[in-house]
Amino acid sequence: MDLTPMLIGGQWRPAVGTGKTEDVTSPYDGAIVGTVPVAGPDDVEAALSAAEAGAARWRRTPAHERMRILLRAAQLADERAGEIARTISAEVGKTINEASGEASRSGEIIRLAAFEGTQLYGDTLPLDANPGTGLDKIGFTQRQPCGVVVAISPFNYPALLVLHKIAPALAAGNAVVLKPARTTPLTALALAACFVDAGLPDGVLSVLTGPGGELGDLLVTDRRVRKISFTGSTATGERIARMAGVKKLSLELGASCPVIILPGADLDLAASAVADGGYVNAGQVCISVQRVIAHPAVSGDFLDALVPRVQAIKVGDPSSPETKMGTLINSGEAERVRQSIASAAAAGARVLTGGARDGSMVAPTVVADVEPSSAFAQEELFGPAVAISTAADWASAVAQANGTAYGLAAGIFTSDVAGAVRAVREIDAGSIHINWTPLWRADLMPYGGLKGSGIGKEGPRWAVEEMTELKTVILHGRPW
Ligand code: NAP
Repeated sequence: MDLTPMLIGGQWRPAVGTGKTEDVTSPYDGAIVGTVPVAGPDDVEAALSAAEAGAARWRRTPAHERMRILLRAAQLADERAGEIARTISAEVGKTINEASGEASRSGEIIRLAAFEGTQLYGDTLPLDANPGTGLDKIGFTQRQPCGVVVAISPFNYPALLVLHKIAPALAAGNAVVLKPARTTPLTALALAACFVDAGLPDGVLSVLTGPGGELGDLLVTDRRVRKISFTGSTATGERIARMAGVKKLSLELGASCPVIILPGADLDLAASAVADGGYVNAGQVCISVQRVIAHPAVSGDFLDALVPRVQAIKVGDPSSPETKMGTLINSGEAERVRQSIASAAAAGARVLTGGARDGSMVAPTVVADVEPSSAFAQEELFGPAVAISTAADWASAVAQANGTAYGLAAGIFTSDVAGAVRAVREIDAGSIHINWTPLWRADLMPYGGLKGSGIGKEGPRWAVEEMTELKTVILHGRPW
């Protein structure tokens, strides 16, 4: 397979120091999808020094000019969406339908970010309201780019999660060094090509392919880096937070998202939404439905509506338009998920459907009578299984919903406005969905978790804010 080179300082090139390459393989059938360089320390140094020069140049580029280049990149992403979708499906193992949906959002994310990069407004400061000052001073705030941004992304949405970092970072005037997941570098390289072909100056975007465990520390500890934007597991995020030193951090981390179902809820709606929200991308979504907490009066009817829907999910070849659910990222992950389900069953939970593994595929699974304090509910599963437990009153439902280390997103199904309002007030999650599951995202909305699910928000407006720094400016006149 031909080498797909990485991008450093405007050059598409192999790994200079290591000279190594590695294959990217399909999780479905092991076919080689592409070959990429394995970057080493020399490449990290080259990317960071190019980014330092790129940042100096890009911050002096007017916002309208940055927007023009980004809009061109968005158009290229639109034109290449079919090819990008095939790459996503091949390297992630997600269905071609899901991959097409993901790829088709690329251009729009870039456009939203391009606009936000032109909206770096400041405030005027009413300094004369402060005793000891007068009318002789004028104060205002101004935003400027952070400088060099390191973006590190996971495998599960290799287009969306890359673009939610690099598009706002570039729109705001930063240079970016991107380290995509080792399993899914080809999508990131295809997206980077859209920016390069749109005329992004050399050094403003670099993409390093290779092992995060080796490249990560070099990137996040470097003093030339001012901002780190990371999406991935809580364990890796915690390590980055320990290593980074004095830098701005955005961390989008793990989750165990709950859905509460109250008496009076539309159970058909809840069942069809959970049968979708627990199994999209084989459950490898940070906002996947992992736990359903149902009132005992409705849990039986809810399960009766849910199980046949889950059994109808067709698993198989991701490239077939008939397939509803593809593979996990590799067979090791599939085995981890199978074992988690088996451990829950051994501890007394009931597997109502699914539970089996075939290579990298795990059958869509529903597990009832899950003990809320068990590992199956508490630890992020990142697989196609939903855990059902019951809660007899509001206080215990909220205690269960809030009772993990995470707080990314939550859903509640209810016909009662008071219940919805209470959920909004009392559930600790970065987003709360009334009469839907957590598995929903509009690209323009603020998106990011509380507690162990992270720090900061993505979504172009919020990401642009987090990728810029605020300066306070005072004009010192003289009393007259
Ligand atoms: P991961 O193992 O933490 O990897 C994420 C990225 O970090 C990859 O690019 C990885 O590189 C890199 N990395 C690994 N070790 C590193 C280190 N020591 N320093 C710096 N970077 C390092 O996560 P994943 O398995 O790819 O993704 C699944 C996780 O992402 C789940 O926990 C999921 O909930 C979370 N996620 C969160 C959100 C959100 O918005 N909150 C969205 C999507 C996913 P390699 O691939 O080369 O190891």
